[in-house]
Amino acid sequence: MAALGLLRAVLQRCCRRLQQGLGGHSPPWGPALAVQAPAFLPHAADAGSDSGAEAEPGLWDSLVWMAVPKKRRTIEVNRCRRRHPSKLIKEKRNIDVCPECGNLKQKHVLCGYCYAKVKAETRLIRMEIGKKEGGPFNAPTVETVVLYDGEKPTEKDEGKRIIERARKRPSWFVQS
Ligand SMILES: [Zn+2]
Repeated sequence: MAALGLLRAVLQRCCRRLQQGLGGHSPPWGPALAVQAPAFLPHAADAGSDSGAEAEPGLWDSLVWMAVPKKRRTIEVNRCRRRHPSKLIKEKRNIDVCPECGNLKQKHVLCGYCYAKVKAETRLIRMEIGKKEGGPFNAPTVETVVLYDGEKPTEKDEGKRIIERARKRPSWFVQS
């Protein structure tokens, strides 16, 4: 509760000072200097007494003081620090050629180009499913078979969910 009272006192003080400064006839919100100040301003303590102008904190009191360097470091010294081997990006030696598409990829990582292709095709298959079944929650609990152009369902696909795509089968999408 003490903090609330303090806050109200500070706010009232700010309002009064604004009204004094503006004089009542200038535009209400002009450009002003904003300073980052700590929450415990010195004038907050004597806000109730409202003694006068001599206790007014100046601009210098409200600044946050920080440590600054005492000597300029030369550009050689700075470059030695910035270009130290420990600060440089490490050279990658695990780069390989993707066996599917031929783009470069990291050895233990899925190829981004191939993944994008699979993702796009999966999205189209999903759209096809949505068109056929009309919603995401109508999926039957059977296996799904995707048939491309010129493919016929075999007797093995009996009773399975069959999705047809109007394009040639992509090379990477093998028929199981
Ligand atoms: Zn690839």
